[in-house]
Amino acid sequence: MPKKEKPSRILCPARRGIGVERVGAVLAITEKKMGEFEDAAKRLSAAQQKEAMKRLLDQVDGAEAGIIRQKLAEPNKPLSEAQQKVFDNQILPSMVEKCSQHSSCKGFTLPGDEFCESCAIRFG
Ligand SMILES: [Zn+2]
Repeated sequence: MPKKEKPSRILCPARRGIGVERVGAVLAITEKKMGEFEDAAKRLSAAQQKEAMKRLLDQVDGAEAGIIRQKLAEPNKPLSEAQQKVFDNQILPSMVEKCSQHSSCKGFTLPGDEFCESCAIRFG
């Protein structure tokens, strides 16, 4: 039996390296798409955000990793202005990925998960 092909994962534009340095129409589109991921990430519970950050630690390095480590160790300690910018623009939208049924589902998952909760029940 042929192995079922795994659908491609859709990551947030920040994670894919499409940065805000783009200009004009591309930037507008990127910002709109980023907004989708940000909104989904903001809807996560504190426990889900913590889990998402732990998973992201395997995928990021440098400033992002440092900020995540600080957030996990001392969640209530305020970030510096520069750190907060990285957190808002890079880390927060990366806390979610599109559900693998993305052609038919608008749901989001935590990093590395294949299906959102409702699809996991149907396909998982
Ligand atoms: Zn789904």
